[in-house]
Amino acid sequence: MRTLEDLDVEGKRVFVRVDFNVPLDGARITDDTRIRAALPTIERLRGDGARLLLAAHLGRPKDREPELSLRPAADRLGELLSDEVTLAPSLDEVPDGDLVMLENVRYEPGETKNDPELAKRYAALADVYVDDAFGAAHRAHASTVGVAELLPSAAGLLLQREVETLNGILEAPEAPLVAIVGGAKVTDKIGVIEAFLDRARTILIGGAMCFPFFKAQGHSVGASLCEEEGIEPASRALAAAEEKGCRLLLPEDLVLGREFSADTETQELDGVDVPDGWMGLDIGPRTASFYAEEIAGAGTVFWNGPMGAFELTPFAAGTRAVAEAVAGARATTVVGGGDSAAALAAFGLDDKVDHLSTGGGASLELIEGKELPGVEVLS
Ligand code: ADP
Ligand code: MG
Repeated sequence: MRTLEDLDVEGKRVFVRVDFNVPLDGARITDDTRIRAALPTIERLRGDGARLLLAAHLGRPKDREPELSLRPAADRLGELLSDEVTLAPSLDEVPDGDLVMLENVRYEPGETKNDPELAKRYAALADVYVDDAFGAAHRAHASTVGVAELLPSAAGLLLQREVETLNGILEAPEAPLVAIVGGAKVTDKIGVIEAFLDRARTILIGGAMCFPFFKAQGHSVGASLCEEEGIEPASRALAAAEEKGCRLLLPEDLVLGREFSADTETQELDGVDVPDGWMGLDIGPRTASFYAEEIAGAGTVFWNGPMGAFELTPFAAGTRAVAEAVAGARATTVVGGGDSAAALAAFGLDDKVDHLSTGGGASLELIEGKELPGVEVLS
């Protein structure tokens, strides 16, 4: 993969694709992590004498929906850089300047189709292309792939670090590699589980996705969130783990609630057969402590997906215990996934891991061994 070392940017205009797909409450940015994550590349390019034309997407606009304007992101970036960021109203009106940002690239109908005409229009606006949008690297769009084919191109510092760190987990992890996979659905994460069956010493399963595993083993799941289409893949993963000698571990106790709500009646269950009228909403304390021990003994840890409905205080303890164990581990620790990152941040532990991936879908696809078009085009 080509990096900034391979580019000459002095005095040139650089089209920089960033991931500013931030959560908004009206026009207020509720989490600017992604904007801050792009600062090293932006500052490096400016220090090297480049003029920047920034491009990003926000949400999934059907037309030029004003609520999905990048105005708040441009303003926030300006504050962080203590400089003015000019927002270009359209591709026909791109002002000259050292720090210009295009409007939401998904306002352009050709963006997600990787329309070659749109890619040409982007390319005509700049001399060089840099991609720092790891969160969009699994999509072949005009601003991630089309334009990269038309200009001298390379990865920015964030994209480079994401790819090198995640590839490092796959190719040369310090043993033992412990993967923690949780969250809502097995089918979202089965590719990741399969990738780790070949590589990890231990896989710890948590979240609602343990219920298809339990159902496959003949346990009752009560009213727990249990994805039917997940049962077959879960059953296959259990068989493959046996055959490959990978320790695929499931919870041994649970915290139950009557319903998915913070003020519901709760009980601890020593076991995993969930009675009718109850749902499993967190791993239990015994599971949390043996998962924490496995994490403490790891050489490398990859974590994706919360252990329970951590947004609800009565069901946050399992995810918190795992987050604390990951934060305190001697291992190299890598965390991917939007909700897992949100959980770490909520517990104030986000700066205690070695790498917090900014790309949810992209990081999962990379771990699954898929080629990311936004990365391939830079190689
Ligand atoms: P990530 O974004 O980190 O990849 P996911 O999106 O796969 O994670 O899963 C997070 C969601 O799963 C959270 O909204 C959480 O409430 C939900 N969840 C986890 N465990 C349970 C459970 N036992 N029952 C219901 N929902 C759960
Ligand atoms: Mg999620």
